[in-house]
Amino acid sequence: MAVFRSYFIITCILLVAALIASAICTWTLQNTSARSQRYYPGGMWPTLGFIAFIGWSTLIITGLQALFYQFGWWERFIREANAMRFFKLHLIYMAIYTIFWLSAAGAITSFIPQHCDQIENCPQAQAGAGFAWIVEICFVVNLLYLFIVRYRINNGSITVDLSPGLPTTVKQKQAAPAMQTTNGSSTPSHLIEKLCLQCKSAQCVDGSVYCGPNCVVASRNGAPKLVELPAAHYMFRRISDMLKAAWTHPTGKPTPQHIFVIVSTEDNDRMYKAYKEGVESQRRFLPRNMTEGNEQYRWHGTTRECKVGDPGQKALCTSASCPMCCIMRHSYDVDKFGPRWGRFGKGVYCSATSSKSNDYSKNLSHSPWTALLLNSVVVGNPYNMYDNSPQQFHPPDGYDSIIGQPGRALNYDETIVYRNDAIRPVYLILYLTPRASSG
Ligand SMILES: [Zn+2]
Ligand SMILES: [Zn+2]
Repeated sequence: MAVFRSYFIITCILLVAALIASAICTWTLQNTSARSQRYYPGGMWPTLGFIAFIGWSTLIITGLQALFYQFGWWERFIREANAMRFFKLHLIYMAIYTIFWLSAAGAITSFIPQHCDQIENCPQAQAGAGFAWIVEICFVVNLLYLFIVRYRINNGSITVDLSPGLPTTVKQKQAAPAMQTTNGSSTPSHLIEKLCLQCKSAQCVDGSVYCGPNCVVASRNGAPKLVELPAAHYMFRRISDMLKAAWTHPTGKPTPQHIFVIVSTEDNDRMYKAYKEGVESQRRFLPRNMTEGNEQYRWHGTTRECKVGDPGQKALCTSASCPMCCIMRHSYDVDKFGPRWGRFGKGVYCSATSSKSNDYSKNLSHSPWTALLLNSVVVGNPYNMYDNSPQQFHPPDGYDSIIGQPGRALNYDETIVYRNDAIRPVYLILYLTPRASSG
């Protein structure tokens, strides 16, 4: 996190100033005679004590924080945590300390000039006040800096690559040139790219983010949930390439910045698998060198009420009116289609054209990010259609889905399935909303 380097420098200045301020105040408190303490002007004595106290506590807390930034503990700490929530807590703590130091430095400054002739250790108290002001300034700069960083993360001008799932040691190895890793002491980068997302030690089965059935089962702990795919993972690159290759609209092809694996419940997976096996046993795609049940990836764009998928936001919301989270939680529901008109009737619509699905992706909250779902779809034996057929409730006999082909009624392809078990959302992809082309 290079953005926090300059923050580290401010923190160091703050630490030194806080150390001097608290040392001076503590020294003054201890070396003022009992007689003089009694004559200290009202409010002055507690203020010195207050500065000494918050000075030492600032040292401990801010010192830990500096270590966090300097040694990369911060990355490790928030890799699994909710980064933006942590950021908010951090801002609150900073604001509290800013107010503490402001009141302490202000109080001591207002007392000293009036009563200095009565105080034995006046120069020391004045110096304590001076350093308290330096600490206060550092806190204000600190706070402003954090606000700027938060703003830039939110509007997408900083991409925080936390690469979740990869241990820091692995990331360091990955930075080394691949040629040097053949001595056996470290893992070659092409192996790191395929590390299982769950155990982080074995290699993924091709086309999966897990090494095998055991890790698939283990990954379901806490499902439904999102697990971020590290940018260095082979699947990240594969999905990114797919999105770009399937982008046919004239807007610039976006680059995915965050990709999440949608981990669904065992029940959800089982029903999909059962349907896929049923279609396969009926139509036999595998002997024709096709995928089981003619399973294919398809895109789907929908309305996102919350900010799920935005930087640091990987929790699914519980709102019943957030289609994005409902789909990721429970998968698609044909019954939610409602009474509205559908070009090919009541079904679940998706597309092989990512830029078409992009048109259906909508944010209800203000966000610079566009979210798109990549789904596994049991296309089975598709029936091609060119004209509208809004009375469709199922594919024609002998077929498992309908593909709306471009040419007459459509400009871009559509795939429609009429059963909930024929489709599952598998990845959530986030990219900065592409600007509409002027042409
Ligand atoms: Zn594994
Ligand atoms: Zn939501």
